[in-house]
Amino acid sequence: MSGFPENTLDYDVAIIGAGPAGTACALALRHSGLRVALLDKAQFPRDKVCGDAVPGQAFKALRQLDPAFVEQLWQLQPRDDVRDSRLVAPSGAGLTLQWKLPSFNSPRETFDAALLGLVRAHSDTTILENTVLKSLQVTPAAVHLHLAEGAELTCGVVVGCDGANSVVGRKLLPAPLDRAHHCAGVRAYYENVGGASSGTTEFFLSSDYLAGYVWLFPVGEGRCNVGLGMLSEIVSAHKVDLKETLTRVLATHPELAGRFAQARQLGPIVGFGLPLGGGRTRPISGGRFMLCGDAASLIDPLQGHGIDTAIQSGILAGAQAASCFEKQDFSAEFMRQYDARVEHKIGRKLAKSYRLMRFLSNKAWLVNAAVRLARVPGLKPWVQKAIG
Ligand SMILES: Cc1cc2nc3c(=O)[nH]c(=O)nc-3n(C[C@H](O)[C@H](O)[C@H](O)COP(=O)(O)OP(=O)(O)OC[C@H]3O[C@@H](n4cnc5c(N)ncnc54)[C@H](O)[C@@H]3O)c2cc1C
Repeated sequence: MSGFPENTLDYDVAIIGAGPAGTACALALRHSGLRVALLDKAQFPRDKVCGDAVPGQAFKALRQLDPAFVEQLWQLQPRDDVRDSRLVAPSGAGLTLQWKLPSFNSPRETFDAALLGLVRAHSDTTILENTVLKSLQVTPAAVHLHLAEGAELTCGVVVGCDGANSVVGRKLLPAPLDRAHHCAGVRAYYENVGGASSGTTEFFLSSDYLAGYVWLFPVGEGRCNVGLGMLSEIVSAHKVDLKETLTRVLATHPELAGRFAQARQLGPIVGFGLPLGGGRTRPISGGRFMLCGDAASLIDPLQGHGIDTAIQSGILAGAQAASCFEKQDFSAEFMRQYDARVEHKIGRKLAKSYRLMRFLSNKAWLVNAAVRLARVPGLKPWVQKAIG
């Protein structure tokens, strides 16, 4: 049911972007009876610049929709199942933390195509690849989506899951770039990295790039995703060239230099933005629209993960869209329920994470002390809880 007398709209719900947020939203709507379209400018499988570490919370959220989704994702290849993380302090001291929730690393090219495969297999969603949203307009009766080459689609509700440079967000909730809540990240794939251990993700902190870290994540088939992320405020103030910095760190870091001596870089170092959560609460919805995932700035400021919050927010947006049609209420006021649920489930944790990231960002000595402290029997769980 569209709720419009003549049922003239092309779709009830249009989801823009088929990454983790958009596919989760489509999966959440699979039993709604609504006519759902999922648009993406890319043809899948497509790459996405990322560390490729899928957090345990992402699987937990998908399992709540249907445990079979998670079982299917766990068949993916290549992947590397994660048991623990090794944190290397600026002093060089290491600390290993075990994770309770099962998780894995898998190149986003593979993982996101598998998520889209779940949508194909388990829903009637119309999937439109190679479909670029250029602009959109919300009227009291409908949303008009302006696509490349002059095409137009109409829908009752639009869900903006179109990532860090969201067109939906820019057009409907424009906000200047806030570099204090934004990170820049670069990554490349490598093989033959010395001492890279399957099952362990590694994080290297340094006083040279605090408020960020170098990561080394095994992604299966002997390859590692290696990258550097840093707060955009610092990148901009110190004119940091992240690609050059990553190359230099891998060649000079006391531990990494030896481990990368025989490593082979596969493909270029590529970069992308990370809109961080935990800032001033701003609306992420309005009449007939919602934003999810990176489009809603939901990346964890301390660890830089956002696949989990993209999936969680996509599911919440799916539920809200269904309830709009049920109640025939598409008002900005009704949509605020979505903002409140995102704030409750995700926003508060991100705010805590942001405060901790800012607090630690210029205190290498404190990170060194925390790693030392965590080696004292009984104190490790406390440090692990603080990190999340
Ligand atoms: C360097 C780096 C490292 C990261 N490492 C990790 C990590 O290890 N673990 C983790 O959990 N998170 C990580 N993140 C964050 C993570 O990548 C994002 O939080 C996550 O991809 C958000 O999912 P999304 O669905 O909101 O957006 P995306 O995954 O960006 O998907 C958006 C989709 O929208 C499509 N799209 C965009 N514009 C349009 C348009 N105009 N018309 C149609 N389609 C459009 C795109 O093609 C894309 O498929 C990292 C990010 C970066 C940059």
